[in-house]
Amino acid sequence: MAMDNRFDTWADELGPAKTVHLYDPQTGMKGIVVIDNVACGPAIGGVRLAPDIGTSEIFRLARAMTLKNAAAGLPHGGGKAGILADPHLADKETLLRAFARSIRDLVDYIPGPDMGTDERCMGWIYEEIGRCIGRPRSLGGIPLDEIGATGYGLAQVAGLALPFAGITITDATLAVQGFGNVGRHAARFLTDMGIRLVAASDSSGAIYRQEGLDVTELTRIKAKKGTVLAYPDARRLKGPELVELPCDLLVPAARPDVITVANVDRVKARIIIEGANIPVTEDAERMLHDRGVLCIPDFIANAGGVICAAVEYSGGGEQQAMTAIKEKLTSNTRKLLEVVTEENLYPREAAMQMALRRLREAMALRH
Ligand code: NAD
Repeated sequence: MAMDNRFDTWADELGPAKTVHLYDPQTGMKGIVVIDNVACGPAIGGVRLAPDIGTSEIFRLARAMTLKNAAAGLPHGGGKAGILADPHLADKETLLRAFARSIRDLVDYIPGPDMGTDERCMGWIYEEIGRCIGRPRSLGGIPLDEIGATGYGLAQVAGLALPFAGITITDATLAVQGFGNVGRHAARFLTDMGIRLVAASDSSGAIYRQEGLDVTELTRIKAKKGTVLAYPDARRLKGPELVELPCDLLVPAARPDVITVANVDRVKARIIIEGANIPVTEDAERMLHDRGVLCIPDFIANAGGVICAAVEYSGGGEQQAMTAIKEKLTSNTRKLLEVVTEENLYPREAAMQMALRRLREAMALRH
């Protein structure tokens, strides 16, 4: 086999500190770990299981974690791992255990759940090496998707962003794209604040009801029938139409790139709070801001899950996690809105500035 000796990993002032390829001949496990930056502490990031994942994708995800963890003021850097396998594989346990043993000595990387892995997988990793977040409640973990940590964080952000945009919370209407772990909990916490949920979607399509959708009922129906489309007395729409509906607040909580330059002109929401990762392209974000639509970037808005994970890692419990999410997301959103207004920056620029300032301070202390 021809070997290439070039050091061709992409790198900049932040990292990546380590890019490690794993192979276990006994099980066939092939994996990649990128530990991007550890200036703030050991890197936290999920383990993604996918058949087609590559080093550059893992690096981009690790960098997003570096920024998210720094912006949230967590004592953690950013990392990510990928295992090359079908997420529907029958025997995940063998692969996950082999993966765990391979990263035993990579002590500055703390794995967590991501696409294709869940708390059961974290239980196997924990048993092998005693190091992970997102483990089952029975092993001392905090089930962040069950308690709705990310959705709770999005609601805290909305509590400041709506008044900032001159919208009265109890008069506001909400559309949620992706009624899953993030979206349904966001809808629950936001409607508890008095906001009216008028539209919701999943991979089967969208529903709209101007008078409001009952979140408890919608959650029950989605769990029982598998789709929001089974909700009675609501107008059915094609999925992509949801992001173009008139509403005060839009929470995209499903897929990347759902608002791009191709459809941004049709978006009528007054505020967008990004629940998913990169649901709005950066060009589209700027276009929205230029016409007065406030768009709170993903790595500020959806940090509730990782804040919960960091609390779990430090030995804290559920109540402590919710308090930390509220405090951190409230102060970060306040700061972001201040920087956007005072320095006339786009929200993503302001968010980058906040994250980079914290990272550079931490890196300077390490010299
Ligand atoms: P999930 O699988 O629980 O829910 C996703 C929902 O989106 C499902 O209801 C699915 O049917 C729906 N969906 C899929 N494609 C769609 C489409 N084209 N249009 C409308 N709906 C569609 O996933 P999740 O944990 O809620 O995560 C959602 C997003 O948020 C992902 O991008 C994830 O990376 C990101 N995120 C999750 C967390 C977390 O705490 N779970 C934290 C930060 C970021």
